[in-house]
Amino acid sequence: MSLVLDKVASGYGRLAVLHGVDLEVPRGQIVSVVGANGAGKSTLAQTVSGLLATTAGSIVLDGTPVHRLRPERRARLGLVHVPEGRRLFGGLTVAENVGMGRHAARGRSGDPDVVEHLLDSFPRLRERWGQRAGLLSGGEQQMVALARAAAARPRYLLLDEPSLGLSPRLSAEVFRLVAMIAAETGAGVVLVEQRVDAALRLATTGHVIEHGRIVVSGDAEELRTSEMVRQAYLGT
Ligand code: ATP
Repeated sequence: MSLVLDKVASGYGRLAVLHGVDLEVPRGQIVSVVGANGAGKSTLAQTVSGLLATTAGSIVLDGTPVHRLRPERRARLGLVHVPEGRRLFGGLTVAENVGMGRHAARGRSGDPDVVEHLLDSFPRLRERWGQRAGLLSGGEQQMVALARAAAARPRYLLLDEPSLGLSPRLSAEVFRLVAMIAAETGAGVVLVEQRVDAALRLATTGHVIEHGRIVVSGDAEELRTSEMVRQAYLGT
């Protein structure tokens, strides 16, 4: 079972941004897509979730073509997007925000105790459980957004720069949560990130995106340690 993008194109009106992106995300694996600012990472995440229309190519979720479905239909099939900027309900508590994820899980099977397991491993989340989400730090809000996504029993998760704006220490905590969510839910994860090293450490497979095209793909550890890839594509 996998999420398969075949020659996907999309953009904003007349501006073409993605040019024929191929990607395969097996259930239970983390696939990282790394690249610089403006390379098309958010555009990719939004195209898969359906916020942006696919103008060419196809997106197939466990055998079902989804690229013409509305975002809500895709979400109901278990495609869960955690957008850049988190989009929590700031006036609601952490518990209520995560509860919305549970609500979205209707009709999909999965382990009902996933959130409990996350709370056991991330006491910081449990401490904040009754507080309003809008009052939390950026890192804590990102963790709540991830917990909400995990509660939705995702088949596939689209994570758009979960470490954006976070300190290295908090980023590490967020990445640890991503790894745990992948393991606990068995979802396939598309992780789009600017933090190349951390994103490739988490992933099985990595892809480098540049100007809306995947320019290198391979074993994540090989990409991470390749001097050529780092210099040619990642500017590190
Ligand atoms: P970042 O990390 O800065 O978000 P990114 O890799 O996610 O970078 P995208 O946000 O996908 O990149 O942007 C890809 C291209 O699409 C850029 O050239 C950007 O200017 C353009 N773009 C993004 N959003 C819009 C929009 N709403 N309308 C028009 N063009 C956009």
